Parts: sequence; structure tokens; C-alpha cells
Amino acid sequence: MAAVSSSSRLSKAVRQQYMSLPQGGKCQVTYIWIDGTGEGLRNKTRTLDSEPKCIKDIPEWNFDGSSTYQAEGSNSDMYLVPVHMFRDPFTLDPNKLVLCEVLKYNRLPAETNHRANCNKVMEQIKEHGIWFGMEQEYTLLGTDGHPFGWPTQGYPAPQGPYYCGVGANNAYGRDIVESHYKACLYAGVKIYGTNAEVMPSQWEFQVGPCEGIDMGDHLWVARFLLHRVCEDFGVVATLDPKPMTGNWNGAGCHTNVSTKQMREKGGLEHIEKAIEKLGKKHDEHIALYDPHEGKDNMRRLTGHHETSNIKDFSAGVANRGASIRIPRQVGHEKMGYFEDRRPSANCDPYAVTMAIARTCLLETEEKKTSK
Ligand code: ADP
Ligand code: MN
Ligand code: MN
Ligand code: MN
Repeated sequence: MAAVSSSSRLSKAVRQQYMSLPQGGKCQVTYIWIDGTGEGLRNKTRTLDSEPKCIKDIPEWNFDGSSTYQAEGSNSDMYLVPVHMFRDPFTLDPNKLVLCEVLKYNRLPAETNHRANCNKVMEQIKEHGIWFGMEQEYTLLGTDGHPFGWPTQGYPAPQGPYYCGVGANNAYGRDIVESHYKACLYAGVKIYGTNAEVMPSQWEFQVGPCEGIDMGDHLWVARFLLHRVCEDFGVVATLDPKPMTGNWNGAGCHTNVSTKQMREKGGLEHIEKAIEKLGKKHDEHIALYDPHEGKDNMRRLTGHHETSNIKDFSAGVANRGASIRIPRQVGHEKMGYFEDRRPSANCDPYAVTMAIARTCLLETEEKKTSK
């Protein structure tokens, strides 16, 4: 039996008594932000006198950056700037979750605030109508760090029956997956789907298609919801790209991309142009596809387990061993989207989408205007 947290064993019936109390017209707003690790999420809650109707109704706030790896103790106040509001699926309407950008004491973006630059790029290429869809893979662990549902001694049967599997011997922790899905729908997160992955207790959800900056916003909030749902069940979701060494699949965050031109008749030509540009910037992209400049992804992108080797760039129709895959249907219809399979499960979607948008669309624009 996997270790579950003591909080998850508290009486949920007692909790429900308080949760159903009326809240006197007030509104709880939970501010969410990315901490100094670039992977961790933090949150804290305050009361507003009335329900905010749009993001502008939510005031700025601050927090102690010296406790989140974001500032020195002597100058530790950091600003929380609300950027995207969602419904709160835990305390329900009218309460809100609000994703925030973090600014330093001088109001410049914090080091791990990649949204600020991402947003600038997305604004510059707005007319291209860029859409993203990201496939977030993750692994469930007990609070002891052991994969959820794996035997205490030894290993489960080898990979094979688990991907999209059904049955107690194949699917480990579906309650979490289904709860997270509902929580995303309630919150207004654009969840696209979900499936069990190749390694037991590994799962995936997809978010998208989202235009521009929305991709990062929706994925970060979807991740927050995942960690929060897992907390209720007393287990932990890790986004480590290779949680188990050996003959077990790693976890990525495949990023699907299209522009208006790619989605229209003859779009394949534009997809091929984008792939050519990506090929010239492989190393630069790898450095932005995990929070440690490629070190995390090095454990995952081995050329085995449906990955390409981290050193090589490749592309192909229906090829799951390539850096870039053109889905079979897209190759057939000669329009649609392409999939960048390199981003690590723990990537920052702002860094990934910014890099793709810049390489595929911005650098040529710059050249055009400088001629
Ligand atoms: P895979 O076959 O690689 O496992 P999934 O079904 O898991 O694919 O995920 C497909 C992803 O592609 C979803 O996130 C979806 O939002 C995204 N997607 C679909 N159409 C487009 C499009 N035209 N542009 C960008 N992303 C798209
Ligand atoms: Mn998928
Ligand atoms: Mn997958
Ligand atoms: Mn994929």
C-alpha cells in the first residue's frame, strides 16, 4: 500500500459541514504564482468584499520572496500582479483562483517570471493566430516518493498493458485523473483530454488549443489543480521527466503548434518551413525546454522509449522517435499542426511557447523589417 498523507485521512464529513456555510456576500480569492525554482507553485488566499467580475477587479498583492527562493530577507517583498482569473473548484462560486505574475521590489519581472517576455513575443506575432496544445505527462507518487500503487518490493509487470489501459491491474489512481478533469472544467481551464500513460501510475492530460499567452496561463493553472487534487487524495504528482530509471518511459510535455496559415489549405508548406527554422536552433530550444538548461531532459531524451536523442534534431510524419512529429492525418490533409516532442514534463510553458513563436515567426519578421 502506497504511503498517503495524514491530512488526506482527516474527516471529509466534518470538513463538508464548514464548506457548506454561507459566506456573507464575501469572496475568497486565491492568488497563485510560480516560485523561485521555476517549477514550484505557491498560493495564498484573501477576502474581497464582492465578487470580482474581471481581472481588473482583483487588487495587486505581495508576498515574502525570501521564503520562496525569490529574494533576500533584507528586501523581500515581491509584487503579485493578477493576470488570469478562474473559478475555484474547491470552495466553489463565487470564489476565484487568480494566476499572478511576480515582480521584484523594482517592479521588474522576477527571474522565474517567463510570462513577461513570452507575452511581449505573443503580442508581436498576434496576427499569425498561433495556437498551442500541450500534453502534460506526470507520475503519481506516495508521500514516501515510491510510485503510487507499485509493489513495496520489486516492480510491476513490464510496460505494455498500461497505456490507455483499464482495470485494477492496469490503471493506478484514476480517481485523481477524473477529479482533476472535472476541476479543470469547473475552473474554466481549457482541458482537451486525458489518458493513462505507458508506465504504470503515469498519466497525461492535454490543454488546448490555446492562443498565444493563454497556453502558459491555462497549463500552469491546470498543474496547480493537479497538485491540489492530489493533496486531497494524499498523494503527490511529480513532473520529473524520468522518475524511474531503467526500462520505464519518461514524462514529457509535447507541444502542438499551428498558425492560421498552417491550419488552412496548403498549410503543410508552412509547417515544413517552421520545422526547418526549428532545426537550426535545436540547442537553443533544448536549453529552454526544462528549468535546468537541458540537464533534466538529458535523462529523458535518450533515443529510446519513444524519444529522440537530445543531441539530434529530426522530424517525420507519424514518427514518435523524432524531435518533431507531423501527425499522420496532417500529412494526409496537407494542413493542420505539428508536434514538438522535446519539452520536458517540468518545462515552463511560457519559455517553450515563447521559443517556438520567436523561432518560427519573429526572427524572419525582424529580418524582413531590417531589409
Ligand atoms: P498525441 O497523439 O500526440 O498523444 P494528444 O491527443 O494527446 O496527441 O494531444 C493533442 C494536442 O494537440 C492537444 O493538446 C490539442 O489541444 C492540440 N491541438 C489540436 N489541434 C491543434 C492545432 N490546430 N494547433 C495546435 N494544437 C492543437
Ligand atoms: Mn498525448
Ligand atoms: Mn503521452
Ligand atoms: Mn504527443
